[in-house]
Order: sequence, then structure tokens, then C-alpha cells
Amino acid sequence: MDIKNLTIKGESFKKPLILAGPCSAESREQTMSTALELASFGVKIFRAGIWKPRTKPGGFEGVGERGLDWFKEVKEVTGMLTATEVANSKHIEMALRAGVDILWLGARTTANPFAVQEISDALAGTDVTVLIKNPVNPDPELWLGAVERLMNSGITNVAVVHRGFSTYEKGLFRNLPHWHIPIELKRRVPSLTMLCDPSHIGGRPELIYPISQQAMDMGFDGLMVETHINPPTALSDKEQQITPFALNTIIKALVIRETVDSTERLSELRREMDEVDERLLDLISKRMAISREIGRYKVEHNMPVLQPVRYDYTVNRRIAQASELLVDEDFIRTVLEAIHEESVRQQLDIFGKEEKE
Ligand code: PEP
Ligand code: MN
Repeated sequence: MDIKNLTIKGESFKKPLILAGPCSAESREQTMSTALELASFGVKIFRAGIWKPRTKPGGFEGVGERGLDWFKEVKEVTGMLTATEVANSKHIEMALRAGVDILWLGARTTANPFAVQEISDALAGTDVTVLIKNPVNPDPELWLGAVERLMNSGITNVAVVHRGFSTYEKGLFRNLPHWHIPIELKRRVPSLTMLCDPSHIGGRPELIYPISQQAMDMGFDGLMVETHINPPTALSDKEQQITPFALNTIIKALVIRETVDSTERLSELRREMDEVDERLLDLISKRMAISREIGRYKVEHNMPVLQPVRYDYTVNRRIAQASELLVDEDFIRTVLEAIHEESVRQQLDIFGKEEKE
């Protein structure tokens, strides 16, 4: 992949580079009808899983090698490039023999250095384009390690795909974005082409547009979106797939800002700000733990929660510091009061518990 011009196999792509297609190739009809409709909307790269890593046995594990014949037909009929997931050297051999243009490593594979090494060895000497999804766990080193293993095998057409990170807690996202992790990758390897997979991050259709727009705003180069001709009938990931028509509507609505330099600078600043916020939260949490410890001490020694002299001393000292650091005094007073109020609440809580016992 020519990083700046987004060229794959001699063909140039405009930003955003779009890969779209079903989570899984299910039948010849489903594969062809999805591809034809995507092609009619101008999508140039077709994706579909043929070998599917499933969390539990017994689910639909992909159609396997016979799906590769449908890929050949997609190429012949639509002229699209094709992409599929490979997890071992057998998959690679079959996919390359069938002329698949782009291979990707799934999130579970990237998390396994043995598998990544086997794949890198099997790919040595080829000029195939390889996409590396982030590992399921939020570990930028593991992700970079996979990039390095492939590059060490002489694969230069490497790009990464941000698909979010597994979480036990069920929340808004299926996989947490942790945007600072792909941004850290970009900081470490600025030439990396970065794609975003909003389907696996969001896990539902209504999140695909906002996540895609956010990725574009952060300077990502393209998107991989799961697209099915009839999502409710999909054999895998049916909750998150959208129709080719819906994808086209989303792509048309995306605002692509050309000022890449300022976008990158902004991303960098946001990353720094995220880090500071994380430290701030960590410090507040530590402060509350100390407050509770003091609360327990006061209970044991029969002291009242409020010690007005101590409070005045703390606030006045910090406010004097604030003006030295050019931070607004009123603002600092508000922050300190809020923190103090919460500390008192936590200590009263400890007193309350003591009284009940
Ligand atoms: C997929 O793209 O269908 C897939 C299985 O993705 P991931 O490896 O990101 O879970
Ligand atoms: Mn999927």
C-alpha cells in the first residue's frame, strides 16, 4: 500500500478508502448480490469472512474454501478488489492461490504472536496487502509487534484496522474505542495507513456514522464496514450489519477535512489531554482514598468530620498557588470546594456506617 496515495495493486484510492461487505460470505447469491450493490455505489474493495473465528464451537464457522470461488466471481463481474481474514498458513495458501488481493489478521489472531509469526513466514516473498486489526486487548505494543513481524518478513503493504477492544462491562460500544491507542500507533509509526472498523466498535447500525465521522476527524485513512444485502438474515454479526444503500448514505454524509496537518496536531493534543485527564482522575481517586482513611482515623479518635481551620488553610494555600500558576482563582476555589464537599460526604459515610454497627 502506497501510504500517502492509497495505492493497492497499482490502483489509487481517494480518502476515505472503503472496504465493505458481509461479516461472512454465506452463499454465492448473498456474496454476489451484496458485491454488485456495493459496486453500483462506487465501493472498490469487497470484504467477507470465509473462515470465521467464533467465540464458541457450534456457531457458523464460515463456508471455507468454496467461498473463494465466489470471490473470483466478484472480481470478474464487478472489478472490485477482494479481502478476507486469514489465521494460519493454510488459509494464506488458499487465499493467494485464489487471487485474493488483501488479507487481514483478525483481532484474536493479532493477540497471538505465534500465529502472527506463522502468518508472517507464510507471506514472506509476496507483495500482498495485509491489514492488521488491533488485538482484542488494549495493548499497543502487541499491535505494533504484529506490524513489526510482518514488516520483518518483507511485507511493506501493511495497514492497521482499529476495531475496538473487548470489555466485560456491557455499555454503549460492543468493543471500546480507546482512541488514544491507534493514535499512539500513528505517533510511533507516522507512515502507517490507518483504517477504522466502526461495525465491530459500535456493534449496532446507528453508531456506524458517528464512529466513522470521528475516525475521519482524527485523520484515519479509511473504513472497513460490515455490509449485508439483508442484515436480519445474516449468519454472523447480524446486529451490526447495514445494507449497501445505508452505507452509501453514510459515506455521502461524511465530512472529510483535508487539512491533515492540523487534524494530526489536534489528535496529538487530544491524546495529551486524555492522558492528563486520566492522571487527574487517578489523583482524585487517590485523594478520596486518603480522605476515607482520615475518616476512619477520626472515628477511632472520636474527632468531628469538619475541621474548619484545616479547611481554610488548605483552600487559601492552594488559591495562592493557583495565581502563581496563572490558573483562575475563582475556578480553583470551585474545584477545591467540590473536592472538599465529596471528601466530607465520604467521611460522613464512614461515620454513618460506624453508628449503625
Ligand atoms: C470481522 O471483521 O468479521 C471480524 C471477525 O473482525 P474482528 O477480528 O475485528 O473481530
Ligand atoms: Mn464480523
